[in-house]
Amino acid sequence: MAGFTVAIVGRPNVGKSTLFNRLLEQRKAIVEDTPGVTRDRQYGVADWNGRQFNVIDTGGFVQEGTDVFEREIRKQVHIALDEADLILFICDVTTGITGEDEDMARLLRKSTKPVLLVINKVDNSQRSLDAAEFYSLGFDQLFEISSISGSGTGELLDAVTAAIPGDVGLTFPEEDIDPDDEENAAPAANAIPRIAIIGQPNAGKSTLLNALIGQERTIVSNIPGTTRDVIHTHYNLFNREFILIDTAGIRKKKNVHEDIEFYSVIRAIRAMDDTDVCLLVLDAEKGITAQDVSIFSLATRKGKGIVVLVNKWDTVEKETNTARDYEKALKQKLAPFTDVPVLFISALEKQRIFQAMEKAIEVYENRSRRVPTSKLNDVMLPEIERYPPPMTRGNSVKIKFVQQLPTAVPSFAFFANYPEAIKEPYRNFLENKLRSHYPLTGVPVRVFFRKK
Ligand code: GDP
Ligand code: GDP
Repeated sequence: MAGFTVAIVGRPNVGKSTLFNRLLEQRKAIVEDTPGVTRDRQYGVADWNGRQFNVIDTGGFVQEGTDVFEREIRKQVHIALDEADLILFICDVTTGITGEDEDMARLLRKSTKPVLLVINKVDNSQRSLDAAEFYSLGFDQLFEISSISGSGTGELLDAVTAAIPGDVGLTFPEEDIDPDDEENAAPAANAIPRIAIIGQPNAGKSTLLNALIGQERTIVSNIPGTTRDVIHTHYNLFNREFILIDTAGIRKKKNVHEDIEFYSVIRAIRAMDDTDVCLLVLDAEKGITAQDVSIFSLATRKGKGIVVLVNKWDTVEKETNTARDYEKALKQKLAPFTDVPVLFISALEKQRIFQAMEKAIEVYENRSRRVPTSKLNDVMLPEIERYPPPMTRGNSVKIKFVQQLPTAVPSFAFFANYPEAIKEPYRNFLENKLRSHYPLTGVPVRVFFRKK
């Protein structure tokens, strides 16, 4: 199931960044620090009413009023038009319509994608009157919001989620889960695993893909991806069929260096929506970067299976414990989710690349695992008895029952008399126990508490 991506565009200072943070409720996922750009470009995942979607803030402008300004506006709009399913065009009520707003509006009106005109900084009713002026930009509807106070953002989010087709980006808030609802059901056992190769430019993604495909000439077909540059390859290995999703293509297309990383991260985020397992490829020499860590945590948040591949291992001078020490340092950066396979590979020399695929399939199987309720209770209730949750206001907290929910991401509901009293450390204890009893390596696990 592909995801849905929303791009925020607008000239500087209209409040794009403020809106972005509000949409993500401060859970800002990735901030790219590109030298020479006045401010960070941002990416993240937002949740609203049980729907999840990607948000990209295409900001990152040079000075207003310079000659490059017009070019920058075009670039921003083009990124949005290329990469987004819906565009939020932000204007500032306090300045009224400017020439730059008009330029952007002209480009955006040609878009075949939905564009929502958003008038920001409508902090009071006087400004609401002023906002009417923006109808002259030629959009049917306008949304008045105050990103600072949050007013109006609920209606805006309703409109955004209303534009998301069918079952795209459904999340599973605990109250809403109906075990009998087909929509929520886990993928069928015979579904073909979808595996994405993601990572920074030059990490070795293309080399890895070529090494895999070159060796086994059993490609069935090339399915055009949802996006031009994301290539889906049907692939057969060890009699297992799966779909490899490659995000590397983009590097060859865009020539402006500064945009490469921006595009590649957007691609990675979008490719993730469509996958079961992500192969996160790192360059061994560079080590794990802040952006890799952010991509990793996004994948975790999206509930994707993950295998970390430390590529170019051939270039690293090795002593007895090099790999072990490397892995340890790496996992410190991945914390708190460290139950992840790490493999040291060389795509160039075809070292351990098939092992990497086997690992990916193993993680896929871990992610699809369903534990029968009776067995789960037989195993987990004694653990809970040995180490019960702390008391709350003099009452003992009792967990009576546990059930795995029928969701794509392994999710476990623990039924208790005071579910709200169970805190993070105990949640972590339960997750660790689940991991110790069942192979869940590489898979983010969700633990819910419900009233019983
Ligand atoms: P960007 O350049 O478009 O990302 O704009 P920023 O998000 O950095 O915001 C520019 C300025 O506008 C900052 O000083 C914000 O605090 C301010 N701002 C953003 N949203 C609002 C709003 O809803 N009301 C008011 N009064 N100020 C806002
Ligand atoms: P992508 O941008 O992630 O697709 O990266 P590429 O596959 O294009 O690789 C970038 C560069 O790293 C190329 O020059 C590759 O030859 C080189 N490279 C890729 N994998 C390895 C490896 O395992 N070892 C070494 N030494 N170089 C590699």
